[in-house]
Amino acid sequence: MTTTKVLISGASVAGPALAYFLHRDGYEVTVVERAPDLRDSGYAVDFRGAAFEVLEEMGILSEVRGHDTRMGGTTLVDEEGADIGRLPAEAFAGELEVPKREVTRILHRITADDVAYVFDDSISALTQHESGVTVEFERGATREFDLVFGADGVYSKVRRLAFGPHAEALRHLGLSGAGFSTANHLGLRRSGMLQHGKDTAIYLFSAGDPERLTVSLSFSTASPALDRRPRHEQEQAVRAAFAGRGWQAPRLLEAMSEAGDFYFASTCQVHLDRWSSGRIALLGDAGYCAAPTSGMGTSQALIGAWTLARALASAGGDHAAAFAAYEAELRPYVAENQALGRETAATMFGGGTGLADEHTS
Ligand SMILES: Cc1cc2nc3c(=O)[nH]c(=O)nc-3n(C[C@H](O)[C@H](O)[C@H](O)COP(=O)(O)OP(=O)(O)OC[C@H]3O[C@@H](n4cnc5c(N)ncnc54)[C@H](O)[C@@H]3O)c2cc1C
Repeated sequence: MTTTKVLISGASVAGPALAYFLHRDGYEVTVVERAPDLRDSGYAVDFRGAAFEVLEEMGILSEVRGHDTRMGGTTLVDEEGADIGRLPAEAFAGELEVPKREVTRILHRITADDVAYVFDDSISALTQHESGVTVEFERGATREFDLVFGADGVYSKVRRLAFGPHAEALRHLGLSGAGFSTANHLGLRRSGMLQHGKDTAIYLFSAGDPERLTVSLSFSTASPALDRRPRHEQEQAVRAAFAGRGWQAPRLLEAMSEAGDFYFASTCQVHLDRWSSGRIALLGDAGYCAAPTSGMGTSQALIGAWTLARALASAGGDHAAAFAAYEAELRPYVAENQALGRETAATMFGGGTGLADEHTS
């Protein structure tokens, strides 16, 4: 019997998790990652519900728990910085919160000996034929695979090539934000501060390195178009949104320009009628991003990989049946998470704090 050869695009959470299960089930797995190395995306992510079972099945639950940020509560402050209330730790951290880079690093480590990782490359073309998929790469030679999986995030290249333009799948929830770290001039220790205005929010916390303060500057905007723009344009939008704001805003805007770990993200969801097309399937944010406001993205990526792998294992080589089963099983869970992501985003600048989990570090 010949081994089934699969290609996974994306080496963050969903990609390496799927790689783990498919290798275990006897597949020959290659993962292609656009970044030159594992990405040190600066924020913390959290785990809820069945994600713990997935971590347990991979044998990494206690190691992941070892990186718990152990965040305490968050103090709410007004425009002058006066204390006006408090949010409990669970408001942000879920059942377990861990720096995302640690999750990615662990998932990579447990698969690196068995899976071929190709960094600094990307799929450039996908052609399906009766017995497989011909994959062209930006750098590497053209290769043949039996199945291809897109685990390459909100702006998935696999989705764009196999399912259509980003605009058809992305739904912007009216929020954007910048994240970066700076010196911990407020002396926070495993705790946060939140200043929430009519259409802006400043969230600061320190967890892990006590010398560093993690900054998230969120604002309401109708336009997702800045996501893929140069940094200076993104910074300009943040400056415009926070112009004239009090408390720490002027100091943080200054720190933003000097930050080496600046990132900008719009709060988007991915909605598709189908998560597979022939021999190509999507998982994680690429297929059904629920938005950071749901706080469910990482759990969903893990559970998506697990569900997809189980469906493939049960379908005895019939990938079409496996993809249909995967979708049927996971859709209700994704719909719930996406509803939560929308509700939280809608309340964010409509009265309550509404913040779910846009931790940034
Ligand atoms: C600011 C912010 C805060 C968040 N906070 C939380 C939180 O508190 N809790 C939570 O659960 N979730 C949170 N999330 C969401 C969470 O990070 C994602 O839902 C989760 O990482 C999804 O994992 P993924 O593997 O599907 O995709 P991603 O983590 O997006 O990974 C996609 C991977 O694909 C790679 N890639 C992209 N394009 C290509 C290409 N062309 N070729 C090859 N590789 C490519 C990327 O470099 C990346 O490594 C947050 C997200 C953001 C942006």
